Amino acid sequence: MIETSEKLFEQAQKSIPGGVNSPARAFNSVGGSPVFFEKAEGSILTDVDGNEYIDYVGSWGPMILGHSYEPVIEAVQETAAKSTSFGAPTEIEIKVAELVKKMVPNVDKIRMVNSGTEACMSAIRVARGYTGRDKVIKFEGNYHGHADSFLINAGSGALTLGQPSSPGVTKGTAKDTLTANFNDLHSVKKILNENEGEVAALVVEPVAGNMGCIPPKKGFLDGLRELCDAHDVVLIFDEVMTGFRIAQGGAQQRYGVDADLVTYGKIIGAGLPVGAFGGRQEIMDVVSPVGPVYQAGTLSGNPLAMAAGYALLSELHTNPHHYDELEEKTTYLFAGLKDVFQNHDVPVSINRVGSMISVFFTEEEVVDFETANTTDQELFKKYFHAMLENGVYLPPSPFEALFLANSLTEELLDKTIEAADKSIQKALAE
Ligand code: PMP
Repeated sequence: MIETSEKLFEQAQKSIPGGVNSPARAFNSVGGSPVFFEKAEGSILTDVDGNEYIDYVGSWGPMILGHSYEPVIEAVQETAAKSTSFGAPTEIEIKVAELVKKMVPNVDKIRMVNSGTEACMSAIRVARGYTGRDKVIKFEGNYHGHADSFLINAGSGALTLGQPSSPGVTKGTAKDTLTANFNDLHSVKKILNENEGEVAALVVEPVAGNMGCIPPKKGFLDGLRELCDAHDVVLIFDEVMTGFRIAQGGAQQRYGVDADLVTYGKIIGAGLPVGAFGGRQEIMDVVSPVGPVYQAGTLSGNPLAMAAGYALLSELHTNPHHYDELEEKTTYLFAGLKDVFQNHDVPVSINRVGSMISVFFTEEEVVDFETANTTDQELFKKYFHAMLENGVYLPPSPFEALFLANSLTEELLDKTIEAADKSIQKALAE
């Protein structure tokens, strides 16, 4: 029973657009009322009706060590007691910047912002200022937040809601965003050749997460690096999802490819509103107040957010076993789910990288936007709701990745696999 959630959703719709403050959390693509939450600990969410769920959303990424992670809570409480914001420098900002530099060695300088959107928006402004060029290349189905330049063939909520380009984005802005196919170097080459000398930046989710989890094909990221070098284009890795998740040093470390600029969000703020962009000194030096590219924020580097992020990143840095454990847990879940779907003759393509995993109900290997779209969305809807009834909270869209947390125990993973078994049977019978 989710009676209270349903009542709150009705009430919310009277004062908040669609009843939610971000579309990805609405149940638009699966139908029904979103669940309203009360509290969470580790991997267990409790909703306002007292139901418990095993969490695979993890606030869309930040909760890599689970909810209510003690060091984060303590850091926030201690810091809040000294003031929630100064709008002036604090030492913790330096500590976070220095720690990120240790974890991601090719980041020379880093600037804090308040969301992944701001990070990506600022990174392309910096790339444009640095190169003196206007155009940017992105990939179909990749999502980089809701800044105008990126709301062109975007993923995540924009993809699920079928609004690949949003009204309100001007034609002028749209013409400077060129779209290539993920995992297809030829499409990138073609665009670069046709726009020689005009492209400032190429931005990519090195592991796509916003059309479901899609790993880069072997050689894809290296190929992008080579093409960007050949055409003097700033290579931006959007590591808002993958940063500090698929390795300490994110996708750059995992795939051994250095970007020029990197954007972060989610884990870097441990669930508080933080984003960041950083990279090579030479490029970052164009950022205000050193350089002419303006970028600012009243609450940027907020002490609560920095203290929370520092607590989480320090743990990940000093105890890298978390990554091995996450990898093992994801492999276990992958094997369990694969068996379940095979036993029920359900065609699936399951993609995973590190602690990100997505189940696509399709026979096709999912490598890009087009193949992601072959997933059986009707079956997903039924499966999603059955999983919810069986106590598993999945991302409410077939085009999102599950984020595993190290608070998941073997018992919880087994319960999840059992729930998947019951849920797919129910979904097939409906
Ligand atoms: N980039 C990527 C890869 C993302 O997944 C997201 C959000 N899911 C963003 C950017 C935007 O971040 P935010 O929602 O914090 O603005």
